[in-house]
Amino acid sequence: MAMTAKFVEDAGDDRLGQLTDALFHRTGVDGVYARTGLYEGVVEALAALISTYRPKGAEVLRFPPVMSRRHLEKHGYLKSFPNLLGCVSCLGGTEREIRAVVDRFENGGEWTEDLGAADLVLSPAACYPVYPLVAERGPVATGGLVFDVASDCFRREPSTDIDRFQSFRMREYVCIGSPAEIQDFREQWIVRAKGLADRLGLTYRVELASDPFFGRGGQLVAISQIQQSLKFELLVPVRSEEEPTACMSFNYHRDHFGHTWDLKTEDGEFAHTGCVAFGMDRLAVALFATHGIDIEAWPQDVRDALRV
Ligand code: ATP
Ligand code: ZN
Ligand code: MG
Repeated sequence: MAMTAKFVEDAGDDRLGQLTDALFHRTGVDGVYARTGLYEGVVEALAALISTYRPKGAEVLRFPPVMSRRHLEKHGYLKSFPNLLGCVSCLGGTEREIRAVVDRFENGGEWTEDLGAADLVLSPAACYPVYPLVAERGPVATGGLVFDVASDCFRREPSTDIDRFQSFRMREYVCIGSPAEIQDFREQWIVRAKGLADRLGLTYRVELASDPFFGRGGQLVAISQIQQSLKFELLVPVRSEEEPTACMSFNYHRDHFGHTWDLKTEDGEFAHTGCVAFGMDRLAVALFATHGIDIEAWPQDVRDALRV
């Protein structure tokens, strides 16, 4: 029996290896890939399909892959996920000083020890920049606000797994308003997202989840997050049935961002916020893992939904 299990395992690895070869070119860094036209076509098709679900009145914002370091510090990201954060660092000083560092490198020395942290971090999620921006505009009107945001995201979690990248694309619909408005938004989105996954021909389940908060103290935060049902994930089998991959998440932040940014609703209460996040790269990988690398052989209704 052990041999059978080993055989199955090898076959599985082979399948994922072939998939990786068809979709990506390796760059020498784990979790960072060049993407093929085949793959990128599906990412674009997915983005267009998700746009057809854009809530009425949503404001579209596209963020660069970097964001204000101050803003992310104020969000408390360092307390929750310091291990995942990437910070931009650059050479500063006069031309002479910079030249000296480069010369040292040219002569076989190190240049990176002279780097200084810039006022930028790599965005770890697409929705972070939206809250301070909205807070600047004053109180949120009754009925709430919805945003359609996206950015390239970075998380320092190098892996050779096909579903975990260091650099990946995230699309989100974000809602800002009263607690009832956010709960409504999230409930509706869990239903809609299941419909979307059905149209994509994906096998899935939606489960209560927690974020990987850092350290031992973080475990308590994660337990409390579960107890308050703050996060759900839509999971699709990619690597295995036993460990399905989170392709979308449905998050309720309560008044965390309202508090942080003094973001209030018209009635003077701190605004509550929530978001539905689409892992664009994970959804694309899930499609190829489910239907194979030959798009012409995909089920016709899936091709119709995606127009591929
Ligand atoms: P996981 O539990 O798998 O680490 P997460 O809880 O960290 O996922 P979120 O923080 O909710 O994920 O991010 C929103 C979405 O972004 C996820 O549902 C997933 O689709 C995608 N995502 C998160 N981390 C990665 C990653 N390292 N590579 C690719 N996609 C990712
Ligand atoms: Zn979000
Ligand atoms: Mg994670």
